[in-house]
Amino acid sequence: MHRVARRQAALQDVVTSRLLDDDYPLIGMIDKDAVIEQVQALQTAFAGDHEAFHMVAAKAVTLLPVLQLLADLGLGCEVASPGELAMALRAGFSPSDIVYDSPAKTTAELVEVFRRGVNLNVDNAQELRRVDELVASTGIASSIGLRINPQRGSGSIEAMSTASSTSKFGFPLMDDGGRETIVQHYLDRPWMTQIHVHSGSQGLTLEQMAQGVSDVSTLAEEIDRRAGHQQITRIDIGGGLPVNFDGDDIRPTYADYRKVLESQVPGLFDGRRTILTEFGRSLMAKTGTMVTRVEYAKTSGGRPIAVTHAGAQVATRTVLAPHDWPVRATVHEPNGHQRVEDPVVQDLAGPCCFAGDVIARERLLPRAYPGDLVALHETGAYYMSSHYSYNALPRPAIYFYRVDDAGTVNWEAVRRRQSVEDLMSESGAEFLRQAQPQNI
Ligand SMILES: *Cc1c(COP(=O)(O)O)cnc(C)c1O
Repeated sequence: MHRVARRQAALQDVVTSRLLDDDYPLIGMIDKDAVIEQVQALQTAFAGDHEAFHMVAAKAVTLLPVLQLLADLGLGCEVASPGELAMALRAGFSPSDIVYDSPAKTTAELVEVFRRGVNLNVDNAQELRRVDELVASTGIASSIGLRINPQRGSGSIEAMSTASSTSKFGFPLMDDGGRETIVQHYLDRPWMTQIHVHSGSQGLTLEQMAQGVSDVSTLAEEIDRRAGHQQITRIDIGGGLPVNFDGDDIRPTYADYRKVLESQVPGLFDGRRTILTEFGRSLMAKTGTMVTRVEYAKTSGGRPIAVTHAGAQVATRTVLAPHDWPVRATVHEPNGHQRVEDPVVQDLAGPCCFAGDVIARERLLPRAYPGDLVALHETGAYYMSSHYSYNALPRPAIYFYRVDDAGTVNWEAVRRRQSVEDLMSESGAEFLRQAQPQNI
């Protein structure tokens, strides 16, 4: 059964299985087989005589059972905070399959990276000095590299472009003396055998991404030449493959990216260096759907507005920057059947108490009625797991689903919905003058 048919089966099962009701008017659902298919697509696209190792960017999906599935499928994990590192370890990634990438690592974080033997991409010269001290005191326990900013300019989303000339990330390659400084850092440290680039996330063309990879590949050649031997054995090309948020097809594919890399970065696949990747959005986005109930359908100023339970708390970027992060929505009858008739220009609003909390504005969609379901597609990465605690709205429950050949839908819990008590404890409950729960 195809991903789209599986999703339709799940949408029809959601209400009868009582996963979505008055108490739970918003859930996230992840197609387990779609995750497996995407991982296979990635592994197949990068296969060859060279070594390639793929890591998932944890921030795209901070959900332990999902990370565990990805670990089981043979992926590694890219992390950028103590929390993400702890999650990766708990989910079962071995330290040598994890890379630590934050731009603001404290000394304590670096000590932990060394103690565990996690791989490391160093962001700047001051961090490198701390790393030098740790190497001197502890020795090398993992692969260490520098994150290079190729400074090739931004993509179409400024906030997501890490390779602009003034980006906060990495060692600037094009600044005066930047290149020589980087080469010298490597020549002074024969133990530094990795090199890293990640030009941004969404909004970049394949050619822009490949340009960054080409820049660090050329840099690696120069370091090797001047070192007199092959020093760089691992090239970490980051993530950032854009996702099309306008339909069920997948454009571009990992295979498309491989082709562009082959033509723009000759030598990348020649087997001399292990290729590492750190994809997040492109692995997960198409595997996930958020489903919410239409609570009310009202009209204001002539505009039909469907008030749902999915707003800025789960779709923060979409609500605050709708042009950069449009989300595709479909409207379904209360039994899950997709509505196709009576299209009207309407808003899909969320539950948050600010006027801009609208997920889709002036969207031509079949008229929605109270009790209907709204499905928000391509939300498997960065949406359901990147919660924004506005209005004390709880993190929604998330499920894996699988559909067998007979069409039976099997659900598996990934995360339970936050309880009111959970919300209390993240809001200072233990510091109340007198802990005196009144009515709850
Ligand atoms: C966010 C991030 C990624 C993943 O980006 P996607 O667009 O989700 O593929 C990879 N590497 C680094 C360093 C990141 O910050």
